[in-house]
Amino acid sequence: MKIPFVNAYAKLPSTCFERLSPTPVKAPQLIRFNAPLADELGIDHTHCSAQDIADILAGNTVPNGADPLAMAYCGHQFGQLNPQLGDGRAILLGDVINQQGELRDIQLKGSGRTPFSRGGDGRSPLGPALREYILCEAMHALGVPTTRALAVVSSGEPVTRERPEPGAVFTRIAASHIRVGTFQFFALRQDEQALCALADHVLARHYPHIDIHAEDRYLQMFKAICQRQADLIAQWLLLGFIHGVMNTDNMTVSGETIDYGPCAFMDAFSANKVFSSIDQNGRYAYQNQPAIGQWNLARLAESLLTLFPGDEDTAVEQATAILKDYSRIHSQAWEQGMARKLGFSQVEAGDLQRTATLLELMEEGRLDYTLLFRRLSHITQAQDDRSPVMTLLDLPDCRKTSNLERNLHEWLDEWQQQLAQREQDATCASQRMLAANPAIIPRNHRVAEAIAAAERGDYSVFESLLQALSDPYKEHAEYLAYQQPPQPEEKVQRTFC
Ligand code: AMP
Ligand code: MG
Ligand code: MG
Repeated sequence: MKIPFVNAYAKLPSTCFERLSPTPVKAPQLIRFNAPLADELGIDHTHCSAQDIADILAGNTVPNGADPLAMAYCGHQFGQLNPQLGDGRAILLGDVINQQGELRDIQLKGSGRTPFSRGGDGRSPLGPALREYILCEAMHALGVPTTRALAVVSSGEPVTRERPEPGAVFTRIAASHIRVGTFQFFALRQDEQALCALADHVLARHYPHIDIHAEDRYLQMFKAICQRQADLIAQWLLLGFIHGVMNTDNMTVSGETIDYGPCAFMDAFSANKVFSSIDQNGRYAYQNQPAIGQWNLARLAESLLTLFPGDEDTAVEQATAILKDYSRIHSQAWEQGMARKLGFSQVEAGDLQRTATLLELMEEGRLDYTLLFRRLSHITQAQDDRSPVMTLLDLPDCRKTSNLERNLHEWLDEWQQQLAQREQDATCASQRMLAANPAIIPRNHRVAEAIAAAERGDYSVFESLLQALSDPYKEHAEYLAYQQPPQPEEKVQRTFC
């Protein structure tokens, strides 16, 4: 396998990383290889056997041109500063330039201990590797900026967590693995040289439109990062996604979603929904995500303060204004997204209230978030049969309060009237909705089912789930079952790292 490494990150000051090779595993076996993504990355795998690919992506063979390293970073975890984290179970093989001319990282996760793994074994069980594969590829198909999955390789070695589990190495592709916590690491150590080199690298890599000679280039970079995160988190909310561990070390400066640990999509709508077993106070609950995003970006601002123009007071003032603007940009993105989900081409006064009322009804009735919006797309006109939506009230999870049915009808009446008034073309409105409201999301019980089967050696459930998730805005007859919310006995309420 020929990988055209350029290794831009390895050229940064040596305090940014520790060079080391992955630790070989016992018996690497390729579970899945994302060939179309490999092609996009310019990787030549045409004359490569599955075993050759497995050997490289398990870390047993270091490919030509790689300059493997573990990245240094720190971060706030659940609000507490941890001054040293770093890649404790991941190794960056190197970076390549993809077909679009952009740098992409190739990282092995679960590839052994590193100087940053104070505790832990540096390994990853199969379950979390498959979970990350499914979730990130689903997010990509849904149109959300995200890291990608190149491969999963089983290691042939057990990994002991609560119980012994099969081990795996996951290959992650990212625009970069630079996090808010990467900047925090150098700010904390007052390493101006590394901080500056890293900021220049981020400017060139992720924000090439910013003039590198501008005096306020780092402030512009901070603003651009805030904008991407404001948009990203709006997209999460619009799809019912809960990241689960929004620590500052799990927030990229590229604007991609990263680190699919205990994340999940919710079934029944609940604004305070939490899945993660370690998020006991609900810090990272569904509706807290925008505010947490802002909190994390404030930590980034603190780390970059010395790079901003003017004296400290001026720098703080400018950063504060940008952080305020983050809320406005986020709300705007969310409101525009909600307008599309409801068929409107533009946001108008009253939309916020209409959406709030719908979400209240959904919360009250424990209605399925994804199915409700999808089915609304089919009943945009007054003469349409409403049963696709009203039958959601018959699902086992639904809490049918006394006025729910009547209130929902009233809401539908008003919404359909608005649509008729504002959108000339009902078909167009419906198309807009179908393109914004997925039919298929990676439902938690389906992900759990695929992992359980894989742990028994059957990867067919994982494969068909991936297939179903690859075209989420269409209703394919063979994947109808994947649209369904869980039966009470299928529900998976807790997720683990
Ligand atoms: P994460 O929960 O994936 O964001 O990881 C947080 C920190 O814990 C990072 O520094 C990881 O490298 C480290 N870490 C997580 N799992 C392991 C493991 N199995 N072995 C060593 N370090 C780990
Ligand atoms: Mg992490
Ligand atoms: Mg993680």
